[in-house]
Amino acid sequence: CMKALVFQGKKMLFRREVVLALGSSLTGPIWAQEKKDKKWDVIVVGSGVAGLSAACAALQNGAHNVLILEKGPIVGGHSILSTGYVAGIDRKRQEKQGIVDSPELMLQNMLEIGGNKNDVSLAKIVCYQSESTINWLEELGIKWDDRIFQTVAGLHPRSHITGLVRAGHDYVMTLLQYALKHGAKLNLRTRVLDLIEMDGKVIGVNIQNPSGSVSKLFSRTVILATGGFTANVSLRMKYDSRLGPEFPTTANPFGKNFDGATGDGLIMAQKIGAATKDVEYLQLIPFWGGRLLDYVGGDIYVNIIGKRFVNEAASWKEVSDAILLQPQREIWAITDAQSQKGASLGIKLINKVIKKANSIEEMASEMKVSPQTLRQTIDFYNQNAKKGKDPIFGKNIFTQTIDRPPYYFGKEKLGVHFCCGGIKFNQLAEVVKTDGDIIPGLYVCGEASGGPHGHDRLGGVALMSAFVFGKIAGIQASKFRNL
Ligand SMILES: Cc1cc2nc3c(=O)[nH]c(=O)nc-3n(C[C@H](O)[C@H](O)[C@H](O)COP(=O)(O)OP(=O)(O)OC[C@H]3O[C@@H](n4cnc5c(N)ncnc54)[C@H](O)[C@@H]3O)c2cc1C
Repeated sequence: CMKALVFQGKKMLFRREVVLALGSSLTGPIWAQEKKDKKWDVIVVGSGVAGLSAACAALQNGAHNVLILEKGPIVGGHSILSTGYVAGIDRKRQEKQGIVDSPELMLQNMLEIGGNKNDVSLAKIVCYQSESTINWLEELGIKWDDRIFQTVAGLHPRSHITGLVRAGHDYVMTLLQYALKHGAKLNLRTRVLDLIEMDGKVIGVNIQNPSGSVSKLFSRTVILATGGFTANVSLRMKYDSRLGPEFPTTANPFGKNFDGATGDGLIMAQKIGAATKDVEYLQLIPFWGGRLLDYVGGDIYVNIIGKRFVNEAASWKEVSDAILLQPQREIWAITDAQSQKGASLGIKLINKVIKKANSIEEMASEMKVSPQTLRQTIDFYNQNAKKGKDPIFGKNIFTQTIDRPPYYFGKEKLGVHFCCGGIKFNQLAEVVKTDGDIIPGLYVCGEASGGPHGHDRLGGVALMSAFVFGKIAGIQASKFRNL
């Protein structure tokens, strides 16, 4: 897996840089080769898109010594696994598709999905900086697909992707390539244990290096980009007691992968007085593999007796709350031959996570539901899809009817997907304490932070928010001077 990640880089230089960086973490950590009293300009904790954006922005804004610490054996965290929809205003592409959009509308959508619990000043920054961030990422080497999508729970067509295959991987590798090429160092298998504080300022981190020994690293600034805590069952139950071990995470649905989302940043920041925001809002989504589509309008969800029960275009919170009320909390996702399926289709068919049927009756028999009920459900849905209006659940986005065999269907269950909240921060990505002051020298970005989303998040905004505040954190850290 590591080999694949390392050698899929497009340029020789990138390969060489990554191999050097990875090699050094295998033969002895980079910091060990530095002078003993070395002081970094910026230490970034976590190598997902938030941390990598921060590293790139810091380097672009005058930081010289930037060190990225990653506890996992590979880069990328949840970012590399993500489907990769990035919501943002992009007039040059949206206008070509006749899409009218604005930062105001995006903000309205974020507040609607977030139940108006969002920190509006932070949500505003995400929306108003989304267009410049799309362009910034393009300058760093991201190659956007020209098609703009409406992602599930996105409420409006404004989501970008680099292609339907492995967009998350593209973001991580492109940003990593840029950061390494411009001088950043990367240490894998290096866990940050704690923040070192002096006179109320953060001046470094205690780390556990790959050999297991513990050391100190000093830095002018530290950026926490440690991701969420979806994989930490006791922590997530502390904030939402419903989320016991029976719920897998969507990053690791079968419990076989490395998942670093254990809330380390949250825990270490709280130890030195950081406040939290919205930590009780964890997002659940159906992510067992049965859904084939991430855009709205090409599929339907039915319960185990073959009836629709929700507007599939609603927010994830509405969809998940509705699933929690269905028998056995299990549902089927159904699409047909016309929809645009992702790259996982082949493997899902092989694993029988997705099945194919040539008729509704054959599909009903496989699902063990009444064929009459399923036919009625699909016929009624198709009539309404043709009219563009669903009188029962209020769906109003349809890209097709579901009537061209073969039909594709898969069972879905809920997984814990995303932490809408985390460490409290301000518009400069500075960590805010419970008394309202900031902690000088400490920044946070990405899923480790809380504020922009409220009680649920707009589709595609996790990544956009990580890019936007990653960039802000990097710029601010590069400017920070210890007074
Ligand atoms: C399957 C899946 C699909 C998704 N699809 C989308 C999508 O299409 N659009 C969207 O907007 N969002 C999506 N998301 C959510 C989005 O991917 C994440 O919110 C985002 O990638 C988080 O980025 P991050 O950089 O904050 O954290 P991460 O990418 O999770 O990176 C955090 C990193 O920090 C490391 N770390 C943690 N603690 C320490 C420590 N103590 N020391 C050193 N390193 C540490 C972790 O190992 C990890 O590598 C998806 C998520 C999943 C799981």
